[in-house]
Amino acid sequence: MWRLLARTLLAGPVAGPPAPTDQETVHSLGGRLNAAMQPGLGRSLAILHVDGGSCGGCEIELRAVRRAVYDLQRFGVSFVSTPRHADVLLVTGPVTRNLVEALEQAHAATPDPKFVVAVGDCAVDGGVFKGSYAVTGGVGATLPVDLLIGGCPPTPDRILAGLRALLEANARREATVSSR
Ligand code: SF4
Repeated sequence: MWRLLARTLLAGPVAGPPAPTDQETVHSLGGRLNAAMQPGLGRSLAILHVDGGSCGGCEIELRAVRRAVYDLQRFGVSFVSTPRHADVLLVTGPVTRNLVEALEQAHAATPDPKFVVAVGDCAVDGGVFKGSYAVTGGVGATLPVDLLIGGCPPTPDRILAGLRALLEANARREATVSSR
């Protein structure tokens, strides 16, 4: 046992260095996200994350979006813990059958205008769980979805770019409505 302990202590960390992040891209995506938030939503965006039976991989990337490197909060994006404070329901996982009712209730409790975003291949169409009797096969089977962000799991850059595209589309729609 002592030999194993010594080997483990001397071996050093197993994890490799983090992938390099292009801060310029993150900053420009964040700036455009911030600009796109104004119409209809004010200067901030509140996201409620709903785990619909994920393996946990998508959550690790979502955590990265909130932590030091990406730090979405500096662009006015915050994660909230109740649907009553949310603008966006961000769903991960293939939506297991026993979570359908909870997801519907969260959607009903979220005030308008609201967006539903499916993050990860599982949330898009069931992903690796597709065909299982235990899942509905993606968020679209339960709720109207405004944005699909694929990937298993999607990178933080991809999540950020998806949110920006959604808000920019909303900003264009608001501008069209208000100019009528
Ligand atoms: S998309 Fe991949 S990482 Fe995300 S919940 Fe499904 S299996 Fe896990």
